[in-house]
Amino acid sequence: MKAAVLEGIEKLVVKDVPQPKPKDNEVLIKVNCCGICGTDLKLYKGDYTANCPVILGHEFVGEVVEVGREVKNLKVGDKVVPDPNESCGACDWCRSAQPCFCNNLAAYGVLRDGGFAEYAVCGEKGTYKIPQGLDDETASFTEPVSCAVHCLDKAAIKPGETVAIIGAGIMGQIFTQMLKNSGASRLIVISRSQWKLDLAKKSGATDTIKSQSFSQAKEDVLRLTNGSGVDIVIEAVGKTETVEESFSLAKKGGRILIFGFCPEGKEAKFIPFDVLSKELTILGSWVNPYTFPRALQILTSGKINLKPLISMRLKLENIIDGFKAMAEKPAGFMKALVFP
Ligand SMILES: [Zn+2]
Ligand SMILES: [Zn+2]
Repeated sequence: MKAAVLEGIEKLVVKDVPQPKPKDNEVLIKVNCCGICGTDLKLYKGDYTANCPVILGHEFVGEVVEVGREVKNLKVGDKVVPDPNESCGACDWCRSAQPCFCNNLAAYGVLRDGGFAEYAVCGEKGTYKIPQGLDDETASFTEPVSCAVHCLDKAAIKPGETVAIIGAGIMGQIFTQMLKNSGASRLIVISRSQWKLDLAKKSGATDTIKSQSFSQAKEDVLRLTNGSGVDIVIEAVGKTETVEESFSLAKKGGRILIFGFCPEGKEAKFIPFDVLSKELTILGSWVNPYTFPRALQILTSGKINLKPLISMRLKLENIIDGFKAMAEKPAGFMKALVFP
């Protein structure tokens, strides 16, 4: 079968590899569609470590074409979407209801082969049937939406609170759509890019800020919130500069959600006095524990519309074009989907 294999930093090669065989508790999936995620680009650039050589791709959907001997709940022909963060269920983290920290996390497309391939094997435990009426392209967003659900669980937004989202890329747009009906009284989206802000406005942002500098964003957020700042800041960029910016946007007693994927080992600065005197809460959000079913429900409900976020549809052999677009971010580019 054909697959896109990451062989090392910036070495992504489309080539023939043996078709995998499912183990007793696994299914073989014929991949229909797999999204290129910001995380894929970070793996490609070496900002985050992959288990090379590995087939990248963790946002995929497909059809079951073979089942292992012990598989009970899935059958050939089922349309499915696997949770790429497969936990073992047996380590201390899993047994204390925190599977996102699993010692043996499988992480498809990072630590084990993923979905930029004609076929992929996945454990039955983490593979979900796609509800009737949900199309492949929308279902391929289950993983990013499930991560957003986990982040919003942690944010625990109360009706009337004010929210600032830093970043209007794919995750900023998903957060905006999901928060539109959350009861937040203000939903401020901050980006350097005007067209992304226009899209965020259509998605439900009450205010948008085009910011070239921290001081600009801070000034505008303070102006919009009677000088106090927002209750919740969601950092959805993954740069140390925007993490640093978060601290100046939160109001006293506010929460800062670090969601964007900062490069491993990179340091950010903050002023401890501000954290203690403003009683800020700093929260992290890591992957998607127990949120896949709710993500599928959100997608099936039609309450969020992801079609306008798909800007590129590619064959597997042209996958590198998608990575280039991710890196260069031309105007109008939001998300690329690969159809193996
Ligand atoms: Zn992803
Ligand atoms: Zn575990």
